[in-house]
Amino acid sequence: MKEGFYGKFGGAYVPEILYATVTSLQQQYREIIDSKEFQDEYSQLLRDYVGRPSPLYLARRMSERYGCRLYLKREDLNHTGAHKINNAIGQILLARKMGKKRIIAETGAGQHGVATATVCALMNMPCRVYMGATDVERQRVNVERMRMLGAEVYPVQSGNKTLKDATNEAIRDWCCHPADTFYIIGSTVGPHPYPDLVARLQSVISKEIKTQLMEHEGRDYPDILMACVGGGSNAAGTIFHYIDDMRVRIYLGEAGGKGVDSGLTAATIHCGTLGIIHGARTLVMQTEDGQITEPYSISAGLDYPGIGPMHAHLADTHRATVMAINDDEALKAAFELTRLEGIIPALESAHALAMLPKIDFKPSDVVVLTVSGRGDKDLTTYLKAL
Ligand SMILES: *Cc1c(COP(=O)(O)O)cnc(C)c1O
Repeated sequence: MKEGFYGKFGGAYVPEILYATVTSLQQQYREIIDSKEFQDEYSQLLRDYVGRPSPLYLARRMSERYGCRLYLKREDLNHTGAHKINNAIGQILLARKMGKKRIIAETGAGQHGVATATVCALMNMPCRVYMGATDVERQRVNVERMRMLGAEVYPVQSGNKTLKDATNEAIRDWCCHPADTFYIIGSTVGPHPYPDLVARLQSVISKEIKTQLMEHEGRDYPDILMACVGGGSNAAGTIFHYIDDMRVRIYLGEAGGKGVDSGLTAATIHCGTLGIIHGARTLVMQTEDGQITEPYSISAGLDYPGIGPMHAHLADTHRATVMAINDDEALKAAFELTRLEGIIPALESAHALAMLPKIDFKPSDVVVLTVSGRGDKDLTTYLKAL
């Protein structure tokens, strides 16, 4: 396989002015992140700062309901409340090793912005977060968190004033400051090497699952893995060490919104066509003339008009089964987990949970489902639905 490609998806389609910067990142990232020095510092921060390993919890009442042995991988218990911090810490360590002095990021719901602002405070680096002006209004609390952490939140006024526009603006900034600025991308998207870099940084999730399953079940692999997909980072981390293990079935839940045929959806794998977004060739929700269409989902973190090239390829080759989960199904699943296990999941994670009633399990099936984040940020939406 050509470097940076997953089948026909991936690559690095960047403006000429970024070519040297992206190439040097491609040439250096593996050597740096595989080095003992990096790994020592990274693992120590994951342990002492993030609180890893995150627990693998056998959910007894949910298991009973669905007739399987259901384990939840508890990324919701991480510092800042989701899996995104695993990646942000890794990328800021990489930025420092590459001698970068300034951090930029884009954010939609604000979750990646908060993770980035957090690690910038930790490492004492200046940070600018691009965010669509509409999202700045919608996501007040996360904007305030970022500002308290010392980041500059830059409201983007172009286009629909949402994530796609914030991303364009972040890339523009990167073009103006390629030498001193590191762009921390929050998911397995963007030009090569970002999808691979982010997947490797999140792969700590499946590394821990192996050890923890060995303790619980006496074998290091499950029968089924389940995760939600926005750009694909928590899913990539969950499946990383099992991709070539055909004993393991993979189910991914993307955001169906009001339904894949409703025009109000973020189900890129179901509705997207081949195109280029954010510097990579992948499935994109676009018009016939290639203009990116505005995605919709009740869950802000899944509201992305593209999908990681790795996941497009997993779906294309049928290695993964991808289900579109509608808003109402996700809401129902979130309430079910809350009432059966006392865990309020993020709305994004609820898209993974909502696949459970759609799968036929055997009682002996060992199932691992990643709860990518906690639901505190979604309480207003939950209470409205009650
Ligand atoms: C951002 C986010 C997601 C979606 O991003 P992926 O890169 O697909 O993992 C899922 N869950 C939570 C809690 C998030 O914050």
